[in-house]
Amino acid sequence: MDNSISYGDDYKYIPATSVGSGIGLEILPDIFCHTIQIVNICLVGIPNSNDFVLVDAGMPYSAEEIISVVEERFGVDKKPKAIILTHGHFDHVGAIIELVKKWEIPVYAHEAELPFLTGKESYPKPDPTVEGGSVAKMSFIFPVDPINLANHIEVLPADGAVPFMSDFQWIHTPGHTPGHISLFRKEDGVLIVGDAFVTVKQEYLYKVFTQEQEISGPPRYLTPDWEAARESVNKLVELKPKVAITGHGLPMTGDLLTSNLHLLVTEFDSIALPSHGKYVNKKIQ
Ligand SMILES: [Zn+2]
Ligand SMILES: [Zn+2]
Repeated sequence: MDNSISYGDDYKYIPATSVGSGIGLEILPDIFCHTIQIVNICLVGIPNSNDFVLVDAGMPYSAEEIISVVEERFGVDKKPKAIILTHGHFDHVGAIIELVKKWEIPVYAHEAELPFLTGKESYPKPDPTVEGGSVAKMSFIFPVDPINLANHIEVLPADGAVPFMSDFQWIHTPGHTPGHISLFRKEDGVLIVGDAFVTVKQEYLYKVFTQEQEISGPPRYLTPDWEAARESVNKLVELKPKVAITGHGLPMTGDLLTSNLHLLVTEFDSIALPSHGKYVNKKIQ
């Protein structure tokens, strides 16, 4: 067992929750989404099979919950073939060290995300001054130091293939983080978005709590490159997804998704872009 893998120095429990916390949703027969406090994990594969993958790894101290969700859906002592990371923010890798130690499975991420997953580079500090509610204001306590997955992390294949998810392709959607990816299945238009856009105003605790559906760009307090974030949203909208499973908020489908994405693209400046804050000097006029 490789004991050199570890969380970052500022790893900690974050006291934030939503009405969806602890609740799972079967979106399609092979797509299951479960909310850990304020973030979604996604299990892709047919229930009770051995052939499934975990997308993202929840909040700090959620390993037990993730293991029980997996075992409930796939069977006792089952484990995914791999963990695919949309990106390495604390709320998407919060349980990964325990999960990798227990399951001994590979983790895949985009090459540009590796410095944050191998102990080399911290994420930029969140910007608690962006407009928004108490989640933005509390964001200064969010962990940003890199975790270290050492030799357990692998780079996603350059051709867009997703290991153990043969009908999906990964799409580079930087902006929120440099190596952020989304996962798309052309056949039925399923898009696992990560945080490239979300369906809840993630900055507001009340809205996060109620999970009121509202299209939004990536979480404002943690997005340093808005020009790239805009291009990434455009790229995803061009795919014409039919189902969007976002890192935060409830899944959105059909006409509601199409009209909201149209709105997000045409009104990106007013919907997504913070009007002030330390990262908006990158705004294109
Ligand atoms: Zn994020
Ligand atoms: Zn997130």
